Amino acid sequence: MTDIKSLYFEELQQYITENDFPKFRAKQIWDWLNKGVKSFDEMKNLPKNLIDFLQRSCYISVANIEKKLVSSYDKTVKYLFRFNDGEFVESVVMSYKHGYSICVSTQVGCKMGCTFCATGKSGFSRSLTASEILNQIESAQEDLNIRISNIVLMGMGEPLDNFDNVIRFLKLVSDEKGLNIGMRHITLSTCGIVPKIYELAEYKFALTLSVSLHAPNNKIRSKTMPVNNKYPVEVLIKACKDYFSTTGRRVSFEYAMIDKVNDSDENAVELGSLLKGLNCHVNLIPVNNVKGSTYHKSKTDRRQAFIDILSKYGITATVRRTLGSDINASCGQLKRNHLEVKGGE
Ligand code: SAH
Ligand code: SF4
Repeated sequence: MTDIKSLYFEELQQYITENDFPKFRAKQIWDWLNKGVKSFDEMKNLPKNLIDFLQRSCYISVANIEKKLVSSYDKTVKYLFRFNDGEFVESVVMSYKHGYSICVSTQVGCKMGCTFCATGKSGFSRSLTASEILNQIESAQEDLNIRISNIVLMGMGEPLDNFDNVIRFLKLVSDEKGLNIGMRHITLSTCGIVPKIYELAEYKFALTLSVSLHAPNNKIRSKTMPVNNKYPVEVLIKACKDYFSTTGRRVSFEYAMIDKVNDSDENAVELGSLLKGLNCHVNLIPVNNVKGSTYHKSKTDRRQAFIDILSKYGITATVRRTLGSDINASCGQLKRNHLEVKGGE
């Protein structure tokens, strides 16, 4: 069965004409899909033989709301979405002065096994299709009756471990005939799969690449992020420099501050010298405590200490605002709790 919502408009046209239906039908189908219909029966202006053909050969992928939590502090909304095959992922909608932003998932689980991450702890099930990533945005927009203006690929999963589907998603979501959210409003976060960073650079998208660094050296990074054994810090930083040269886009680094693990003055000095000369920005994040983990948030004064030390190396750093702390808004946590309540699937 063809995942019809993952097709580009031109591919849909080709599919329709190859199967002996007139080209203009593709536009009609495309419009219905963009309106969020969930079955071919709802495509009222199509002839019966075309609906029959579509039902036999294609399916419409969905992201149905299984659970929804609204933060009472700041109106952050967290969804647990259910796909056609019953798998779940999480998405979070945040409201900022300049509009709504959504954090979407790219895989059910993750293979990368970072020790501080709830998703990493829950294992890997499968990658999402382009339409499943897209549907998280569509379903949230429809439910909240809003238009989302910014997307971060920072939910469950490693986007660069699902490269082709993520590229397809990026092209579909930025298509002016589709959701039309421009690349400048999209951030892709990666744990640092170096060859894929080079591959992504070749597309020269105007998105922001955000690299989850979380440590200033290989010793600490390899302990918390197994991917570092394959692509160590110096190789990763070189890839970021090359990414900037190829795309002209400033790279951001995520640094989750963990008490007594990566937050000393020496760690900040090391981070400063590592990143010196690279056109970048550092987001400092207080690590979220995940069930079953021994990591704790750094003391609050450590953030300013990092900002001050990094600035001596010419590097700007800011503290990421935490939203939705009462609803476990960091991805991976809701699904884990939901499945535990249901009996731990
Ligand atoms: N796999 C990608 C994107 C999803 S994770 C990546 O790792 O970048 C999104 C972000 O959340 C990453 O920066 C990740 O390191 C961070 N993260 C995961 N668990 C966290 C936790 N317990 N506290 C703070 N940040 C966390
Ligand atoms: Fe995967 Fe990112 Fe979590 Fe690491 S931090 S386990 S790469 S989702």
